Amino acid sequence: MKRVDLIAIGREILRGQTLDTNSHWLTKRITAMGGEVERMVVLDDDVQAIAREIGVSFRDGAKVIITTGGLGPTFDDKTLAGIAEATGCPLSLHPGALEFVTRRYREFFEQGFVESPEITPAREKMAHLPQGVEPMDNPVGAAPAVFLKTPRGVIFALPGVPKEMKAIFEAEAFPHLKDILGAEVYLEEVVKTGMGDESVLGELIERVMKRVPGVYLKSKPTHFGKDVELEVIITAASSSEEEVHRRVKEAEGLLLDLVKAHPTRTGG
Ligand code: ATP
Repeated sequence: MKRVDLIAIGREILRGQTLDTNSHWLTKRITAMGGEVERMVVLDDDVQAIAREIGVSFRDGAKVIITTGGLGPTFDDKTLAGIAEATGCPLSLHPGALEFVTRRYREFFEQGFVESPEITPAREKMAHLPQGVEPMDNPVGAAPAVFLKTPRGVIFALPGVPKEMKAIFEAEAFPHLKDILGAEVYLEEVVKTGMGDESVLGELIERVMKRVPGVYLKSKPTHFGKDVELEVIITAASSSEEEVHRRVKEAEGLLLDLVKAHPTRTGG
């Protein structure tokens, strides 16, 4: 199995102001894709600390490093500088990333979220990326996330805001990661739940993931309505076909039992 290390960056986590839910979510996701998370660290907004820990992870055999946080416009957003230092790929203005940041601020301005669409030095900072990276679109926020291939392994740098981090992971990082991790057996199964309320279903999904290690469950988003029957995608990966089927079947059985027992069930 390929080793994946997670690095959460942000002083607010070390001061107890934010709980590192990003690493927890990523671990579940990666395990169900056949990767093995061997190390998780939380770091201060410090270029040298970030560079050092990236070096340690690669030296110890990580093939993939995922960082979260520290991509924004403020002075304490140091992730990209840390990656540049660790990999010897200096920061430079990336035209595609600048175009993306400019477009996002224009949209935010038109929606009344910011007072001006102007590209200030702070905003432009988000488009200074380590040389050789592939910027990844951020469908929610303004900071482009990045994907960098190095001779020692790959780095994904995702934003800290959980909603942004998850959206970029699913849309941009997942396809790369699936190829890189290359699990021998990867299974995805869609289950009809007969339930209409995603918030209720979300609780049941959490319970299944706690009880069945190595599976990931995600409800397919849809509209509200009496006729809605939500579907859940169950995924698991491993080197053993038997094991993958066992996990998915166990998760499916448990989910359907929980749905059946739930008082708000509709249809089905
Ligand atoms: P932005 O582009 O919004 O500036 P960013 O990448 O700079 O994002 P941070 O400034 O590091 O992200 O964090 C933004 C917010 O996201 C934090 O205030 C915190 O609430 C949340 N956050 C950051 N890291 C984590 C984490 N590991 N787990 C959960 N929430 C986090």
